Amino acid sequence: MSEPSIFTRILRGEIPSEIIAQTDNVFAIRDIAPKAPVHLLVIPKTQEYRDVVELAAGDPALLTEMIGLANSLAADHADGDFRLIFNTGPNAGQTVFHVHAHVLAGSLEENSLG
Ligand code: 5GP
Repeated sequence: MSEPSIFTRILRGEIPSEIIAQTDNVFAIRDIAPKAPVHLLVIPKTQEYRDVVELAAGDPALLTEMIGLANSLAADHADGDFRLIFNTGPNAGQTVFHVHAHVLAGSLEENSLG
């Protein structure tokens, strides 16, 4: 087993961050450096998969569970519309190698991808 990721440490309560929602296998927190009016992270409780490509190959049901939680969070925290981003690899900006989805919502016309 590799070293626990920052997200595993948050899940264990070793690093403070409110868990704002969870399902059996997935949890959500607010990003510490928000890039949009609503910027949440949806994270599998297991850190077995380093990125979305590994996750899709290894456990597509878990990926579906992440998307479902992202959808309900966007309804609870914004108007239901959202952008889902999986940074995949360091050259794409991935810094935590425990797969996670960024859920961006709110006034996204100000987002650089908009
Ligand atoms: P990545 O760059 O890997 O796609 O995304 C990692 C995200 O985790 C970043 O947006 C970063 O702001 C967020 N992050 C890193 N450390 C912490 C932390 O301790 N608490 C929270 N809530 N978010 C964090």
